[in-house]
Amino acid sequence: MSSLFLKIIVSVPVIVAATLLAPLLGVLLMILRYITSNSKKDRRGSISIIIIGLLLLIPRWLFLLSEGLHFDMAVNAFLKNIVNNEFYMNNVTTCGFTLIVLGIVSLIVSILFNNLLTRFKNMLSGAIERNEVKHAEIEKENNFRVKEMEYKAQHSHVVTCPKCGANNTIVGDTGVCGYCRQSLSSK
Ligand SMILES: [Zn+2]
Repeated sequence: MSSLFLKIIVSVPVIVAATLLAPLLGVLLMILRYITSNSKKDRRGSISIIIIGLLLLIPRWLFLLSEGLHFDMAVNAFLKNIVNNEFYMNNVTTCGFTLIVLGIVSLIVSILFNNLLTRFKNMLSGAIERNEVKHAEIEKENNFRVKEMEYKAQHSHVVTCPKCGANNTIVGDTGVCGYCRQSLSSK
């Protein structure tokens, strides 16, 4: 399917026309629009679909209003004519309601999706940050160990114990014989 053709069949006017013919077709096209949309937060599309749905129901609102407020008989009769028209009654009304529901659902889905996406991104960046901190800590610890080992290597001496004659490796100038606890000095 070419992308232009796809773009046309999931455009708002085509969705409205499809819903007018068969509400289910409109629902399917709306789902297709959501799946193929690059930007999942299609707020403008959802809102225009809700508005079109509301507009289609205007004669109905007006008729209810005119009945309630006892408008001029001629106006009332004119509106009644439109509202009671079979096509308006069967197709336009259903289409209007379907569009409103579709628009609201897709709006909610886009908001939820957006929230989930943001949360997922935050989670991911948090994990990366924690990992970096951990790496830095490990590196610091390793550096410390290397320095400690270097220090020991540079400052260790083999000293023969004057008391028991054992060879001891001591770090620094003084130490204790590992065999007889005799104090040792490298000097
Ligand atoms: Zn000793």
